[in-house]
Amino acid sequence: MALNLKSLLKPVDSHAHFELFGRKFEEEVENAKSCVSLVFDSITEYRKAHVWKSWEKLKPHFGFVVPTLGFHPNEAKRGNWERVRKVENFLLNHSSEIVAVGEIGLDYYHARSEKERENQLEIFRHFLDLALEIKKPVVVHAREAEEKAIREVERAGVLAYFHAFANPNCVKLAQQVGFVGVSTGIAFIPEVVEVAEKCDVERILAETDSPYMSPFKGSLNNPCNVSVVVDNLEKLKGYGREELIEVLNSNAVNFFGLCKRLGGKFRLNSDL
Ligand SMILES: [Zn+2]
Repeated sequence: MALNLKSLLKPVDSHAHFELFGRKFEEEVENAKSCVSLVFDSITEYRKAHVWKSWEKLKPHFGFVVPTLGFHPNEAKRGNWERVRKVENFLLNHSSEIVAVGEIGLDYYHARSEKERENQLEIFRHFLDLALEIKKPVVVHAREAEEKAIREVERAGVLAYFHAFANPNCVKLAQQVGFVGVSTGIAFIPEVVEVAEKCDVERILAETDSPYMSPFKGSLNNPCNVSVVVDNLEKLKGYGREELIEVLNSNAVNFFGLCKRLGGKFRLNSDL
């Protein structure tokens, strides 16, 4: 039987949360190993999902799983600074093992009151400054607050990845400060299709946001479904599959290995 060379070129999933799979955790990680080459897992403080617990769970899989650490905006809206300090300390103690700070951000869909939005903004700024201090890029969650989040990233001077982006009107702006995440939502959310259409392939990161955003109704998402993003981008962008996967993979590797100097160009961490 001839060896299928194409199958050797596996895509990466730039954004997922394995730690949220509960009892199916091990099974899902093993399953993902068969179809993607790397998973960037955005470990983020949210409700009962403490970053230190998620870290311990994921640690045996580091290498295949590449971690980031952050504080979710839907947690940040509560303004619990004691919790912020705990996460900050954990993050600083593990800064050499993470490739980015995130996810962090602004979510005006869930933060309705002025106070909640103020809390989110203060904590978002706090982690943006921290990212700059430890010379890491950031993974940003922005919902119904995309322009505001982009402006804050710009102000901080860090390189950003706007994950699961769904605001076509802000694609151009987002590309000016970093990368744009096209999620499996491309299969069922018209705004995500529009984002993908407007974004340069060189600035797209393909992601699933597993276990959320499943393209198949009634089931949890899995990093294997990043192939759905690749399929749709192939049609939209007119790229050959192999070439497309190569570009998307190098975008991810570049983003997570790069840092932006204040007012400067993108540079490798080792150059700093
Ligand atoms: Zn996420």
